[in-house]
Amino acid sequence: MDIIYSPDHHAHRGEFEFYRGELVPCFEKPERADFIFKAVTGHQIGPVSAPDSFPLAPIERVHAPRYLRFLERAWDSWTALGNTHDAIPAVWPIRGFRHDVEPDNFIAQLGMYSFDSGTPFTSGTWRAARLGADIALTAQRRIAQGARAAFALSRPPGHHAGPDFLGGYCFINNAAVAAQAFLDGGASRVAILDVDYHHGNGTQSIFYDRADVLFQSIHGDPKTEYPFYLGHADETGAGPGLGFNQNYPLAAGSSNEQWFVALDSACKRIRDYAPDALVISLGVDTYVGDPISKFRLDAPEYLRLGGQLAGLGLPTLFVMEGGYAVEEIGVNVAQVLRGFRDVAG
Ligand SMILES: [Zn+2]
Repeated sequence: MDIIYSPDHHAHRGEFEFYRGELVPCFEKPERADFIFKAVTGHQIGPVSAPDSFPLAPIERVHAPRYLRFLERAWDSWTALGNTHDAIPAVWPIRGFRHDVEPDNFIAQLGMYSFDSGTPFTSGTWRAARLGADIALTAQRRIAQGARAAFALSRPPGHHAGPDFLGGYCFINNAAVAAQAFLDGGASRVAILDVDYHHGNGTQSIFYDRADVLFQSIHGDPKTEYPFYLGHADETGAGPGLGFNQNYPLAAGSSNEQWFVALDSACKRIRDYAPDALVISLGVDTYVGDPISKFRLDAPEYLRLGGQLAGLGLPTLFVMEGGYAVEEIGVNVAQVLRGFRDVAG
């Protein structure tokens, strides 16, 4: 399995995020990807290569150009105001406010393009996020050229980022960018399966009214779990996309067997859909020891997950998402990829 990686993800290193009323060190930190890199190379999952460079065009296929322009200029705009710490939004245009007029004030713009206060924007955020998209696109290209599977090892993650908003540590939706690249390269249908603990609200928002991307997500029930405002079972798509969005919300603390029942349903749906390619939003914050999540998966379950995904027999792109038990994240990811390799051959 080809692994695409660059150590330059270190450019994005947030200082603090708000958590339960105080500023705490960011959970989403560079060491996450370092541990994954160490584990996948240690387990000899496959050759590692650096990403190719891509223009903005494939990213603009899923993100609004004005949002990308905002991200590109955000750090300069913020520091021009005399700020030196990370930019964190403080005001949001919720119901009743206008969304069609972009304010001139930077902090107002930041609130307009974000949905939480836990996603600091740093001096290297744009560079790292852009690199993450290049990594996903490079891995996608390997599969388009005939590879059975590839792993886009990047951070920050992407699945909470929507057409024109950031949040949940995410800025560019790498899985969505890759899925769209498959379609633009000639695929008729792509399935995205999101196995991160948190609902992939950004990916759902991007493809909600489309039938050429089947989006499914297995996650903590949004009634109690982040991102709270999306991810319910009755969100099944809209217009031509009706029936092509499927959520499997599970109560916090659900058993591993309950989780695998949901996975079985998702795999069955993927088989019925018969996509040309499969994109896995791979979060391992489903781990029993994750500090911000409440499922109970562990090494044997990650191996089993990888094997079941391989059993679908599809060209498969793994895109890295969440996972915050930093020391164990590498082993957990390697287990999924080993399980896939053991079955796929
Ligand atoms: Zn997550």
